[in-house]
Amino acid sequence: MQSTFRTLPADKRVALVAHDHCKADLIAWCKRNADALRPHHLYATGTTGNLINQETGLSINNLLSGPMGGDQQLGGLIAELKIDILIFFWDPMNAVPHDPDVKALMRIATVWNIPVAMNMASADFLIRSPQFDQNTPIRIPDYPQYLQERLK
Ligand code: PGA
Repeated sequence: MQSTFRTLPADKRVALVAHDHCKADLIAWCKRNADALRPHHLYATGTTGNLINQETGLSINNLLSGPMGGDQQLGGLIAELKIDILIFFWDPMNAVPHDPDVKALMRIATVWNIPVAMNMASADFLIRSPQFDQNTPIRIPDYPQYLQERLK
């Protein structure tokens, strides 16, 4: 499939997800970066988002809990180009019941080429990038063009 571009806006839609053993780390990261996160639009799976809101006061659009469909909701939003950045502290040491949803979320974030951080060091790099607060073009699959060719 050919590619086209879309622009990640200056005020980004940032998705936040952490598995249970990683929630404390993501909450600490959000506390440390609250001022940088505040101007953006924050989304999260249910439990993660409620805890971040409680601990930091940041306003969060809470989806369903991850295992109840929240990861899939996020994947849908990414495919609709409604999420610009994914911060996903998944647990490398413990199995989760919704592993297929986790894989699907990772996959669709890669398909749509959004910046993703899967650990704290990467999340720090992302949030310290000047592009975090700037319009930034990213390459995405050109599905309309692909369809046009298939329908010829
Ligand atoms: P939770 O979901 O924030 O509702 O715990 C996280 C996840 O496992 O995807």
